[in-house]
Amino acid sequence: MDFSTELKFWYRQNARDLPWRHTTDPYKIWLSEIILQQTRVDQGMSYYYKFTENYPTVFDLAQAPETQILRDWQGLGYYSRARNLHTTAKLIVSDWGGKFPTTYSDLLKLKGVGEYTAAAISSICFREAKPVVDGNVYRVLARVFGESTPIDSTSGKKRFRELAESLLDHSEPDVYNQAIMEFGARQCTPRNPNCPICPLAASCVARKEHKIAVLPVKAGKTKITERWMNYLIIRHKDNLYIRQRTANDIWKNLWEFPLLETTTATDPKTLMKSTAWRTLWQEIPFELNHVSTEIKHILSHQKIWIRFYELTIDKAIPKKQRHDWIQIKEEQLEQHGLPIALHKYITKKRISH
Ligand code: SF4
Repeated sequence: MDFSTELKFWYRQNARDLPWRHTTDPYKIWLSEIILQQTRVDQGMSYYYKFTENYPTVFDLAQAPETQILRDWQGLGYYSRARNLHTTAKLIVSDWGGKFPTTYSDLLKLKGVGEYTAAAISSICFREAKPVVDGNVYRVLARVFGESTPIDSTSGKKRFRELAESLLDHSEPDVYNQAIMEFGARQCTPRNPNCPICPLAASCVARKEHKIAVLPVKAGKTKITERWMNYLIIRHKDNLYIRQRTANDIWKNLWEFPLLETTTATDPKTLMKSTAWRTLWQEIPFELNHVSTEIKHILSHQKIWIRFYELTIDKAIPKKQRHDWIQIKEEQLEQHGLPIALHKYITKKRISH
């Protein structure tokens, strides 16, 4: 059996029964693909159900307020995906009459739809012969064919694309693409691939040459930035202060508590003596009720250390000292999309009280 026949055979016996595998509706396939970017299937599943239920059609998604979409997205991270999802939905309604483009090249014109997603949608929904190339595919091809060109180099990307194109099964591009992705996710996994029962074991170069651990090759590792975020949960009667993050940074358009960000690790004593802290409080008397331990929060290229300071004040903060903060009732917090680290802290506090 050749490579693609072997893969399809394996897929038909081993594919997981996933909800998006029962549809060829491009809207639903697109939703599943965006949700599953950088997200595990078991985690993405509930979001897929939530989105297809809350927004059954692209019109529903286009019409929904962004804050509602961000709230439904809460916990998935990479919020730009949710914003792009919304922008694209609106675009499909305004420019395409609510009907998804049916070709790879037209799909590529949509915001947030790259080569991988365009290939997935066009092959699965319209059986266009376009190969998907993502992390799973890189890994399978690198190992089976012993290809050691770095996958993050220009020549590597070209090489793998050519290889993927030459292997694509033109009679069933939909099944083949899903098969290679599933094979990478379930069989030829990054760590501990299941080689003893692999249908490709006999021809797999990495297995023969003991290169499984080093393939695929990556040229450069991305630098991780560290940040320290000190959040002030300020309670005045049953009110809280929050602000919306508007800068082009992580968590754009989500809500947060007043923040003092430092460029190095700062313990509570030092922070409370800092100019930033003193400027913030000026003449306002406050009571410090609790300082949390430092919580580590990892994003793809950032390591964030978060500490919460819980304070109470008797008098509301004067407007001129409030910056862009707004005052809300504590129970209204749920209606605002918060970054997951903040949401978790608040929820945990409520449960422990
Ligand atoms: S033999 Fe092992 S490394 Fe090679 S394709 Fe199969 S699972 Fe992957």
